[in-house]
Amino acid sequence: MTARRLYKDVDSAPGSVGDVLRLIRSTGVVSRSALARMTGLAPSTVSLRVDTLVSAGLVREIGSVSPGRARRGRRLMLDGASGFVLAIELGANHVRLALTDLAGRRLLDSDTSGDSAPLSRTISPRAAVDELWQRFEELVRGSDHDPSGLRAVAIGVPAPVSYPEGRIVTPTFNPSWDGVVLGDLFAEHTEVPILVENDANLIALAERSDELDPEQSQLIAVKLGTRIGSGIITGGRLHRGISGAAGELAHTEVNGVSAIGCTCGIPNCLESIASGGAIIARLRDAGHDVSSTERLLTLAAQGDPAVVEELREAGIRIGRVLGIIANFLNPKEVVLAGSLSASPPLVAAIRGELYRVCLPLVADDLEVRASRAPRDAPIRGASVLALDEILAPARVNVLTRDRALDQADTP
Ligand SMILES: [Zn+2]
Repeated sequence: MTARRLYKDVDSAPGSVGDVLRLIRSTGVVSRSALARMTGLAPSTVSLRVDTLVSAGLVREIGSVSPGRARRGRRLMLDGASGFVLAIELGANHVRLALTDLAGRRLLDSDTSGDSAPLSRTISPRAAVDELWQRFEELVRGSDHDPSGLRAVAIGVPAPVSYPEGRIVTPTFNPSWDGVVLGDLFAEHTEVPILVENDANLIALAERSDELDPEQSQLIAVKLGTRIGSGIITGGRLHRGISGAAGELAHTEVNGVSAIGCTCGIPNCLESIASGGAIIARLRDAGHDVSSTERLLTLAAQGDPAVVEELREAGIRIGRVLGIIANFLNPKEVVLAGSLSASPPLVAAIRGELYRVCLPLVADDLEVRASRAPRDAPIRGASVLALDEILAPARVNVLTRDRALDQADTP
C-alpha cells in the first residue's frame, strides 16, 4: 500500500500553531508572555495561537486569574488527557503493550496486568496483528479509558525496518515476515497513524536526554542480547539514513568465524560472532549447558572461566566496531542496553576497547553508560515515537487548519 506521510520529519514554520505547541511541550509549563519572547510574535498573535490549541483540546490553562489581570496570571501546559497512544514491544519471548497519554504519562501496561505472553513463533503477520488488536481492546476494557481516544500506534520489532513505509526486512525472529508492512494490516482496525520501528532505534529514542535541550542529544544506543542492535540519535533525532538501515553496526565484518547464521549475507558479521546467540552456540559446542542469555549471566557471575573469556572477547570485538563509529560520529554517549548489558566482563571489555581505539578528542567528551531503564526502554521509546508524530508541528498545523475550516463550514 502507500507509504505513509510522517509529519514529524516535516519542518513547520517558526511561530506557527504547531510550533507554539512544540514550545509548550518542551517547556512543560509556560506563560503567554514567555511564549511571545521565545517566538518573537506579538502578544495578540500568541493569544490567537494559544486559543486555537485550547479549542483543539491540546493545551489547557492553569492557575488563577486575578481580577483586572485578564489571563496574565495563567500558565499553559499540554493537555495530556485529550487522547493516548499505544506502544507495542514485539519481542520473541515477550509482547508488551502500553498506553501513554499525550503528556507522556503511562496509563496502562500489559506487564502490570500480567498479559505479556509472546505470540506463537509460527503465527502469520495478519493473525499477529488481529491478536495484538484484541489485546489492546482487552487492556482498555475494564479501565476508564475509551478506545476512541487512541491517536497513534508505534510498534517496535527486533529487525531492520525500511523507512518511511515501515517494511520489516530480513527478520531473524521469523524469516516468513520478510517484507511485511504491519501498518497496512493495522489499518484494517484503525485509521490512526501506525509507526513501525526497529527496537534498538526505540531504545535510542528512550535514552535521548530529557535534561536541557533534547535537540542537543548525540548518542549511540546498543542492544546486547541474543542478537545485537543499535540506533543513533544526532541533533535529538533518530538518524535512519536514506532507507532506515543506519546504525546496523552488528552486520560489520570482523575477524573471527561465525558461530550462528545471519540473514544479512555479510560473512563473519559482528552479530554472528559476538552476540549472545553466538557465544551460547560456541559454549554449547564445547559441551557447556547453556541455552539463554540469563544462564550466561549466571555462569559468568559464578566465575566460569570459559564463559567469562567468551564475554570478554565478544566485548573487545563490539568495542572495536563501536570505537570506529564513535570516531566517525563523535557522540556524547554510548548507551548499553539489552539483557547482556548486565554482564560486567562484557561491559568492561567494550569500554576498554572503545576508549583504546577512540581519538583523544572523541574520548574526552564520551560517556559510556548503562541504559537508565533497561526493561522499559523499548516501550518508552515507542511511546516517544508515537507522541513525536501525533504532536508534530506540521501535523498540528494541518489539524487546526482543518478544524477551523470545519467550523467555518458549519451553518
Ligand atoms: Zn549479520
